[in-house]
Amino acid sequence: MMAEVSSGRRFLKSDSGRLALGLLVVIALGLAALPTVERLFLVRAGEQSLATLRLSVEGLRGALQRFEPLPGLIGERPVLARLLAEPENGGLQNEINEELRITAEALGASDVYLLDTDGLTIASSNYLKERSFLGRSYEFRPYFTQAVVGGLGRYFALGTASLERGYFYSAPVWQDETVIGVLTLKFTVDAFEDAWRGGLNDIIVSDLNDIVFMSSRESWHFRTLSDLSPAVLAEVADTQQYPLEELTPLTTMREPLTDALSFLRVQDEGRSEDFVTASTLIEDVGWRVAILVPAGPAKAQALTALMVFVLFVLFVGLALMSLLQRRARIMERMEAQRAAQDMLERRVDERTADLNAANANLRVEVEERRTAEQRLRKTQHELVQAGKLAALGQMSAALSHEINQPLTAVKTYADNAMTFLDRDRPSDARENVSRISKMADRMAAISGHLRNFARRPQEDVGPVNVLHAIDDAMALMEARFKKTGAEVAYQPPERPIWVMGGQLRLQQVIINLLNNGLDSMEGMPTPPLELAVEADDEQRVLIHVRDRGEGLEDEALAQLFDPFFTTKSPGKGLGLGLSISYNIVEDFGGRLRARNRKKGGAEFSIELLAAEAPSSAGMAAE
Ligand code: ADP
Repeated sequence: MMAEVSSGRRFLKSDSGRLALGLLVVIALGLAALPTVERLFLVRAGEQSLATLRLSVEGLRGALQRFEPLPGLIGERPVLARLLAEPENGGLQNEINEELRITAEALGASDVYLLDTDGLTIASSNYLKERSFLGRSYEFRPYFTQAVVGGLGRYFALGTASLERGYFYSAPVWQDETVIGVLTLKFTVDAFEDAWRGGLNDIIVSDLNDIVFMSSRESWHFRTLSDLSPAVLAEVADTQQYPLEELTPLTTMREPLTDALSFLRVQDEGRSEDFVTASTLIEDVGWRVAILVPAGPAKAQALTALMVFVLFVLFVGLALMSLLQRRARIMERMEAQRAAQDMLERRVDERTADLNAANANLRVEVEERRTAEQRLRKTQHELVQAGKLAALGQMSAALSHEINQPLTAVKTYADNAMTFLDRDRPSDARENVSRISKMADRMAAISGHLRNFARRPQEDVGPVNVLHAIDDAMALMEARFKKTGAEVAYQPPERPIWVMGGQLRLQQVIINLLNNGLDSMEGMPTPPLELAVEADDEQRVLIHVRDRGEGLEDEALAQLFDPFFTTKSPGKGLGLGLSISYNIVEDFGGRLRARNRKKGGAEFSIELLAAEAPSSAGMAAE
């Protein structure tokens, strides 16, 4: 139940719900207002018809008034009295018949005829017609009875001979003071009805007994609008005014709309019709002329007007609603924008907070890194110190090895020389002393090596012609090549190649590499050496020294350039050559690399930066 209520509420809150409700309300109001609006339209239609009614009444009244004095006037003609005096005079009758015919035609009356005091027709305008009145008696007609006693007769009835409805006027024909006959004039009402039929509305004329005797609808002739009393029925029968069998009631229901207008519902032959009606009484004759305006169009108009109004209201409602909806949408959008903005601002705040936190973290991290770096540097420093100590240790081991042996020999030679001098063998003593001198030379050479290693080059680095450096190195190596029988393959480039470096130091590196190559091939009858120079596009120059020796072991590859690393037997190498060469090439801004050749042997490559040829070519840095 609760759920239903809330869903109902939700429906009413929704736009379509509101629209449906509005629609229902407007339709209900429209339906409620329909009778009132209909009444308004009916009254309007009735009022518009009043003029037509007036015209119709005036037309009838005019006709009645026009004919009223005529019977009296016609009756004054002396010939009529003559005929009444001698009714058997056939010639006179014929003459008068014709006269009356012409008169009737001239007046527009249907019939004009002369009755004697017995009510017998002795002359008639319709004497030529089949249903002529001639010879007929009308003593039962009130118009005769009224006139024969000297009055004026007026009467409406269905013609007994003609079977035409008509209004009868009669007046006495006088001879002195005596009524000797009655002259009657009849006019038919068909023409009026014909005229009425052309209009939109119906017109009926009823007599004092509420019997309809004229109507724009033929079927309503002789219908009664109220119940007829037996007296009235008897009178109608006596006077043969209307055909008794046709006097049937027309069921009506009447409701007053205004003073002048009524709503009338007519039920006839099972058909129901609605009208707005107004009526006027023509007092002289006791006729009630009523106009019947069909209610259908007025009702339709009322419905249309109401529908237009309802549609208008709906349209206005819809327009209003769409306006409100648009407003609501705009408000919603603005609200959404505001919410989005709020969210954005919140996010920015959050991000800012995040960033601040990240910043603080970074700062802490930077601080930590800095301390770590300091620690690292300290450790490095300690390591360098330790490395230096290690190098010193290695060096002292190498030195003590290298120097101890000649020292022992020097001591022995010196002892020998002293013994030979004591024994006065100076030549033997000299030989021992000369050996001491050789040992001293060897020790001097060792110390030279050490000096070279320790000395940091003070010379500048500048453009050096590689070809000159190689040529000089080859010249210095000439003696060893000859001694070992080495075959050196070297194709010097055709043009000078300039690199950044120092002439003597580069020469020293090349000699070192050539010596190492020959060392690795010791024992070979014709050790093959290769020397090649290569200048690539990337501003680099490569000098390769290749041999076919035993190559480099993994351990050697890892420590090749460390000072005092050597695989050679004591007295043959200090392990400083490659270390010194490496440092020299680094000083030039280049690189020294070593690798094993595929088919055996090692390849050492000096990579140097290419240099522009100096303006005075040949000028070396050293
Ligand atoms: P040293 O020649 O005094 O031993 P180096 O620094 O010149 O000192 O060489 C270090 C070591 O590198 C050598 O003992 C040797 O084992 C290795 N080495 C150098 N050149 C070659 C080469 N061309 N082939 C094989 N091994 C080499």
